[in-house]
Amino acid sequence: MTRCSTGKRLYSTEQVAENSLIEAHIHFEYKSGAGPKAVYKCDECGAYHLTSQGVMNVRLSQLLADGTIQKQKEAGRWNDKFKKH
Ligand SMILES: [Zn+2]
Repeated sequence: MTRCSTGKRLYSTEQVAENSLIEAHIHFEYKSGAGPKAVYKCDECGAYHLTSQGVMNVRLSQLLADGTIQKQKEAGRWNDKFKKH
């Protein structure tokens, strides 16, 4: 299955979804409490989706707390200077 009635993007494994969740926080500026914060297995399609509801993903909350996300954001900004748009 490649589509889900929720209209959300499908991730084949929890690990892939979690990585994508973390990358989203690196690439976008979310206001506190906004944006996707967890992953869940969908009953409808059997794949994983991101959600802004519920309890924050443990790995994401650790990476936010220890500054890793912020460091990666800064590294990303640096790289952007060399990208051609
Ligand atoms: Zn689904």
